Amino acid sequence: MNVVVVRTVEEARKHLALRRPEEKRIGFVPTMGALHAGHASLIENARSGSDFVAVSIFVNPLQFGPGEDYLRYPRPLEKDLDVCERMGADLVFAPAVGEMYPVEQRTFVEVTRLGDHLCGPFRPGHFRGVTTVVAKLFGIVQPNRAWFGEKDYQQLCIIRKMVQDLNLPVEIVPVPIYREKDGLALSSRNAYLDSEDRSVAPVLFRALTTARGMIETGERKAAVVKEWAKRVLTQQERVRPEYFEIVDPIELQPVDEIAGEVRIAGAIWVGKTRLIDNLAASPR
Ligand code: AMP
Repeated sequence: MNVVVVRTVEEARKHLALRRPEEKRIGFVPTMGALHAGHASLIENARSGSDFVAVSIFVNPLQFGPGEDYLRYPRPLEKDLDVCERMGADLVFAPAVGEMYPVEQRTFVEVTRLGDHLCGPFRPGHFRGVTTVVAKLFGIVQPNRAWFGEKDYQQLCIIRKMVQDLNLPVEIVPVPIYREKDGLALSSRNAYLDSEDRSVAPVLFRALTTARGMIETGERKAAVVKEWAKRVLTQQERVRPEYFEIVDPIELQPVDEIAGEVRIAGAIWVGKTRLIDNLAASPR
């Protein structure tokens, strides 16, 4: 293996210090592992946009709520290292929980307002856990650029805002959503779907594309678009919609009248699995 795997903050810092002569652009891809083609495309983008690529693999307990899937989240480390190697990563930082949180964490990063809608209300504390761990990882890796997927669009916006507000010297680069042929966005959580769940899961993408189609063909009332999308979602018995929302693409506030570019985002439960997805749409 060419990729170097480190488990401690000290080793990561040492290794990065050796590789940080001035001209080196350090690229960073933070993940929770169980890597799939979506993650691979982030690493690929980082590979072409930087000289040295660090990937972190860390299932961050701080971003999971009570009763969520922290314990059963897949952790196939050996396979993940193969993906990193294959995609040309230089360094994998895969710390244990005790390495990231050796003492009680009493400092938290919280971006206000952007977490008020979409996933925020359904996952209290989630984004605070994400921003806190990403701030810590940025402190350890000190990347020049970091790649984030549009799959987690709200997370991407929140991290951008954190970087702006805290003057962190890192450029955030968005990567388009990687999908299966039937439209299902790749996610580590797709591994939870049994074959029946899997066959209905693309309904979220269908609802999003229906909504986008309506917007592009002149519908301006968000309520009308959402109503139709919910009809699509509730056609499937195994599917329980959690939210389906149309927001402005920066502040993530719900819009009533669609006048410019919007983000359409939804979350559904398929059996015991929660799936999210989103699309951009603009009136023609
Ligand atoms: P996770 O391991 O779920 O925390 O995701 C790590 C990074 O991969 C995040 O920036 C995600 O947005 C991104 N990601 C996950 N799934 C996809 C996908 N299907 N397409 C593009 N990026 C993705």
